[in-house]
Amino acid sequence: MALLPILRFPDARLKKVAVPIASIDGSIRKLAADMAETMYEAPGIGLAATQVDVHKQLVVIDISEEKNDLLVLINPRIAASDGGQTGEEGCLSVPGIYEKVERAEHVTVDYLDLDGKKCSLKADGLLAVCIQHELDHLNGKVFVDHLSQLKQTRIKGKLAKQARVTA
Ligand code: ZN
Repeated sequence: MALLPILRFPDARLKKVAVPIASIDGSIRKLAADMAETMYEAPGIGLAATQVDVHKQLVVIDISEEKNDLLVLINPRIAASDGGQTGEEGCLSVPGIYEKVERAEHVTVDYLDLDGKKCSLKADGLLAVCIQHELDHLNGKVFVDHLSQLKQTRIKGKLAKQARVTA
């Protein structure tokens, strides 16, 4: 396994739209394992392939306290959603920034697991938020895109300052 470098907003590669995975082979299993390791190390609760500059529809999520409940979603689609919730979100690609974002309260996501089996998962609360956040990445969207232009400009300024300090 290997740690993968994570793209930082506003990197233009975060806007690429991921393509479906046609066959789940060894390279996809390795990508999922490397992404999980990268997510746990960060630490974070979700990571989309887009964030490690691989533009394939693969997401890893683990919202458990013990970090022992890894969910790998291949070619995920939100089949149904309803309700609303607003919570503070952060992102490994937007370090140190937390902002409130409106999301659906309940989602049903259809996906393939690492064995290529068709699965369907009903989620609510934090897991539903995390799924919507990660699927946004696969569509070239970062949570910051849900905010006002003014907030986006402020965030870009903050991140540019951070980069200068840590460079
Ligand atoms: Zn993110």
